[in-house]
Amino acid sequence: MNRNVLLEVKNLKKYFPIRGGGIVGKKITNHVRAVDDVSFQVYEGESFGVVGESGCGKSTTGRVILRLLDPTSGTVYFQGKNLAEVSEKEMRMLRKDIQIIFQDPFASLNPRMRVKHIIEEPLVNFNIVQGKENIRKKVEEIAEQVGLTKKQIERYPHEFSGGQRQRIGIARALASKPKLIIADEPVSALDVSIQSQVLNLLTRLQKEHGFTFIFISHDLSVVKHFCDRICVMYLGQIVEVANKNDLYKEPLHPYSQALLSAIPKPDPKLKKERIILTGDVPSPSNPPSGCPFHPRCAFAMDVCRKIRPRLKEQDDGRSIACHLYDSELSQNVI
Ligand code: SF4
Repeated sequence: MNRNVLLEVKNLKKYFPIRGGGIVGKKITNHVRAVDDVSFQVYEGESFGVVGESGCGKSTTGRVILRLLDPTSGTVYFQGKNLAEVSEKEMRMLRKDIQIIFQDPFASLNPRMRVKHIIEEPLVNFNIVQGKENIRKKVEEIAEQVGLTKKQIERYPHEFSGGQRQRIGIARALASKPKLIIADEPVSALDVSIQSQVLNLLTRLQKEHGFTFIFISHDLSVVKHFCDRICVMYLGQIVEVANKNDLYKEPLHPYSQALLSAIPKPDPKLKKERIILTGDVPSPSNPPSGCPFHPRCAFAMDVCRKIRPRLKEQDDGRSIACHLYDSELSQNVI
């Protein structure tokens, strides 16, 4: 695998203010810590999975990378460029290289545009192809790559099924020849039978076009199918980053272990005991001191209640934020 870093996220935080009584204009009384000091690197050509339960901050991380949301602090480097320092004009051009596929294809497609115009838009906006005839040919070529016919692209989005709409979303993302595609739960709104078709399509397109993927999902089976490396998030923080095979064979962080134990096994002989977590996920507006997982962790020690474990690279290359794997213990007392 090519190990050139395409994207680097450093100490990224995104806090949303809570105002008194939930009323706009009132004094800020607290913050929802949606993303709380997250750092990771994504290499050129890989599929990097971001997994975790709903509300763990994975989608917010994707939106901050795309600058659809401004970060509270921290930096995002794309090809070595700090995205916080680029001008609006430069950012518009960078959007050609960073595209997104949304969870709900219907909501993300303009209902008043024919599919051919939806695919055409990035080609024209980024001046990728010139001349009416060339644009028409390119639109048809992209449509064909995602399995849409010339006849189908004359229609409007509402005339398609969920799986076909997602194909339109993929075609639109593909049109600008991006270097990075962030797919935010791209198949979770689809029927199970359609999910594998769309995943196979994404796998084939990545092989053909060589772009890098950040694949955000709550579904560990989907991520296993699709990703090379996986980062597990809990309550706005990364708890483990590992190669897919290492993680699925032997998850090390206690939260990863619980999460993976919940995946249904096709072979009953391989059935492992499911780890049932007690208690609810704490509120991101009032996270626990120390390790965010300590109120639910079966291995919690005194130090876990006081000191937040930092993500630390292990000898085998995976990174874990847990005191069980940190002999030195972080000095950052929360
Ligand atoms: Fe459990 Fe402590 Fe590790 Fe947190 S740091 S996961 S509480 S053992």
